[in-house]
Amino acid sequence: MLSVSGSLSIWTGPQRSCPGRTLFFICHVPNPTARASRLAHLSTREEAPRACAKTPPPARDKSPLLRGPCDCHVLFGLLRPPSLLSSESAALLPPSPPLLPLSASSFSPPYAAPLSSSPLSKPRVAFQSFLRMDFGTGGSIASNKGLVEQLRQYGVIRSDKVAEVMQTIDRALFVPHGNPPYVDSPMPIGYNATISAPHMHATCLELLKDNLQPGMRALDVGSGTGYLTACFAMMVGPQGHAVGIEHIPELVAASIENIKRSAAAQLLKDGSLSIHVADGRYGWPEAAPYDAIHVGAAAPEIPQALLDQLKPGGRMVIPVGNIFQDLQVIDKKPDGSINVRSETSVRYVPLTSRAAQLQNY
Ligand code: SAH
Repeated sequence: MLSVSGSLSIWTGPQRSCPGRTLFFICHVPNPTARASRLAHLSTREEAPRACAKTPPPARDKSPLLRGPCDCHVLFGLLRPPSLLSSESAALLPPSPPLLPLSASSFSPPYAAPLSSSPLSKPRVAFQSFLRMDFGTGGSIASNKGLVEQLRQYGVIRSDKVAEVMQTIDRALFVPHGNPPYVDSPMPIGYNATISAPHMHATCLELLKDNLQPGMRALDVGSGTGYLTACFAMMVGPQGHAVGIEHIPELVAASIENIKRSAAAQLLKDGSLSIHVADGRYGWPEAAPYDAIHVGAAAPEIPQALLDQLKPGGRMVIPVGNIFQDLQVIDKKPDGSINVRSETSVRYVPLTSRAAQLQNY
């Protein structure tokens, strides 16, 4: 449930994976909307039980206003690490009716603390963009061009190349009907999956752009809607090859339809863009080695098959972790040695088996 009053937002909901428990999430949002639910990061089925066990209710849970029907957790969004604020999986939260309105004065600091008091003095990219776009503007963006301009203004898009491809591939063709296409947020696409937020797409394109030159080969693991695969295909062009791997056949079929309506349609027809139903943890050896590998779901560790299919000089961008995830950038040097660095904290749906993903779906 989402309740909004003044500058305070409360989200609470029964957790399917934590029977009998209710989690509460609190954040200070100047212009609160359903975006507040993005802070409700503990909602994924696999993670909630562990998170419930790990997160002791803070003392302020004693507030009568916050006493739930059972255990409750009170989390002040801005006191959480950035990883919890860039949630891909929070988009999977079920919509729920509003809760009783609470006023900001019901809470003493730090719960009602202003944004400027955030201890996260130097937020990294994903958090920064989230903070600025979602708390800062609150306005809806009416066009793909407007979205790209805003991402550029906030420094998420830094190159003409990425701006150009994100303008050419209209996100509205990939976001399921009924969802606002140009909001900087992940959106549910069914099958317990999401289309990633535009700022994450832009971040990954920026990280990979030098490995997406015309004629190069790119692999998009967990291609979902096909949005990034289409962007990759536009960048590597007809002489290159962009391969998407997705293990849900229905998503593959839908992504092919999306791409057919997009500027990448001809590349799909020519075969320089292809999407396959397969388990992405094993990559797609048929078209290896790749200059660029993107993984759109979080792996517990970097899959060896993907490392093997990365070309010397190639780069892989992959979210790694379970509850706490890092977007890792892996460079394979010309001598074959590997350099790994963490770009930012993120939240993605898991890279897992089809059965695990569809459990309870
Ligand atoms: N990047 C895509 C989708 C992100 S969601 C987009 O923005 O549209 C992550 C996707 O990874 C989901 O579609 C999910 O079905 C897929 N996925 C998860 N585990 C996978 C696996 N083992 N193999 C292939 N796809 C997988």
